[in-house]
Amino acid sequence: MAADKKLLIDEELSNMKEVTKSLGGIELVTCVPELVRVHLRLTEHKQLSMCLQFPEDYPHSPLLIELKSRTLGDKLLDRLTKICEEEVKKKLDRSRYSSTFLMDNPLCSCSEEISLIKKELLDDGDELKLKQKNSQIVLRIRKKKYFMNFRVNVPDDYPKECVRTEVTDSNFPELLRMNFQAQAEEISRRCIQPPLKKTPKAPVFTPKPSLQPVCEFMIRESIKRYPEEVCPLCKETCLPDDPQTQPVEKSKEVIRVYCGHIYHFGCMNSYMNTPPFKGGKKCPSCEYRIFHHQWNVSPELAEARWAHKEARKRELDEVMDFLE
Ligand SMILES: [Zn+2]
Ligand SMILES: [Zn+2]
Repeated sequence: MAADKKLLIDEELSNMKEVTKSLGGIELVTCVPELVRVHLRLTEHKQLSMCLQFPEDYPHSPLLIELKSRTLGDKLLDRLTKICEEEVKKKLDRSRYSSTFLMDNPLCSCSEEISLIKKELLDDGDELKLKQKNSQIVLRIRKKKYFMNFRVNVPDDYPKECVRTEVTDSNFPELLRMNFQAQAEEISRRCIQPPLKKTPKAPVFTPKPSLQPVCEFMIRESIKRYPEEVCPLCKETCLPDDPQTQPVEKSKEVIRVYCGHIYHFGCMNSYMNTPPFKGGKKCPSCEYRIFHHQWNVSPELAEARWAHKEARKRELDEVMDFLE
């Protein structure tokens, strides 16, 4: 099935589920792309079931409709079927007239990416909704007791222009939330802008679609990852199991360094201020040099500071000895 068609059908099915939920007397028996079966029950004698099928070239040809009933007469069913078919056809003509499946469905420029995201990144309990009118994808992602809701705006000119990500709600620590959002922006930007530093052997830069990379980062590499990640230094889970119990002491606050690993502030602080300093401090998990504005000092300066502190400690110890 073509990705566009699949996307459209998926969306219609999810609308269908919503609509039938809010109406009484309707039961959605089957709701899959191959077949939709609805059972309508007004009274014991007014019952009917309706089968809908999407034709091969949907939405260019209308839905196939079949009505069945054990209690209603054939003639009535025939007439009802005709009425339904006419309605469906009218709707199709209208949408052809205003043309344009494309204008009504701006998100079709990324339909394949959306299918991939649904298939590869979402678990049960996660949600992805398309807001065609605003050209927006709304996501609600959870992991253990943590969640993050964010929306991705897809511009008209996609993929030449990149998507924009906006976190709307979350119970991750504020520092991480800001960090995720900033990096998502950076990832989208890099999809459409050539690197600032040119390397002579690099291939010619071509812009690429940014939706999937951004969702990959937000979902797999952030929201699904960090609630289980341990601090590389103390080996305990960094984030508290319960997001409501955010730490009060600064030493238990969680920071994320450039390589993507997260640490307790206290653990990182003592690690950064303890020798050896030569060659700069490296992340024990991935060996990547640690860059963080909080400890933005050269190895020489760190060494000097440490030596100074040690000397002070020795002096104090001597004074204490003397006083004893
Ligand atoms: Zn730690
Ligand atoms: Zn690392």
